[in-house]
Amino acid sequence: MLRIALTGGIGSGKTAVTQHLAALGVPVLDADEFSHQATRAQEPAVAQIAKVFGPEVLSASGDLDRAALRQMIFADEAKRKQLEAILHPEIRKRMNEAASTLDAPYAVFSIPLLIETGQAANFDLVLVIEAPAALRAQRVGERSGLSAEAFRGITDAQASDAQRRQAADEVIINDGSLQALHAQVEALHRRLQSLAQ
Ligand code: ATP
Repeated sequence: MLRIALTGGIGSGKTAVTQHLAALGVPVLDADEFSHQATRAQEPAVAQIAKVFGPEVLSASGDLDRAALRQMIFADEAKRKQLEAILHPEIRKRMNEAASTLDAPYAVFSIPLLIETGQAANFDLVLVIEAPAALRAQRVGERSGLSAEAFRGITDAQASDAQRRQAADEVIINDGSLQALHAQVEALHRRLQSLAQ
C-alpha cells in the first residue's frame, strides 16, 4: 500500500480534498482526529501533558483543555516543543497502527504540520494543497469568522508555500470552484491507483 501524505496551509482545502478522496473510497487518516483521540481523558499522553503543564490544562471531565493549552504555548516555543515531543509520537503511532489494518492500493495521511514536523521523508509521496493566501483568508473567514489578523498569525507560524512546494511530489491548486477541485482529485486518484499497481 502506498502511503501518501497530504498537507497544505490553513484554509487551503485539505478537508475538501480528503472528503472527496473518502467519497472515492480512499482510506484517509487525519492527524487532527488522532490528536483529538490521544487527548481524551484517561489517555496516557494526557497525564504526561498535565504533569508538564499543570492541572489547569485539564477540563472538568479530565480531557485536555486544548484552548487553555494553546494559550499557554502561544509565543513560547520551548513549551510548544515540549508538547509536541509528547503528542506527536503518539499521533504517529496511532496513525501507523490504523494504517496497518488497511487493505487498499493507497492511503492518505492528512497532516497539516507535515513539513514543520519533518515527516515528509516517511511517505512514498507528498501531496500539497495550495491556494492563494487572500483566497484562503476569505474562505476561512466565511467558514469560521477568523479575522485577517488571526489568519496572518497562523500562517506566520506555519511553513511557507515555498517550503511546502519543495517537499511536494504532487500539487493541487485549489483556486477555482469545488467542482474544479474534485476534477483534479479524480485525475490524481487515477494516477495514484495506477502507480500503486
Ligand atoms: P484548515 O487548515 O483550517 O483545517 P483546510 O485546509 O482543511 O482548512 P477546508 O476546510 O477544506 O480547508 O477549506 C476551507 C474553507 O473553504 C471551507 O469552508 C471549504 O468548504 C471552503 N473551500 C475549500 N475549497 C473551496 C473551493 N474550491 N471553492 C469554494 N470553497 C472552498
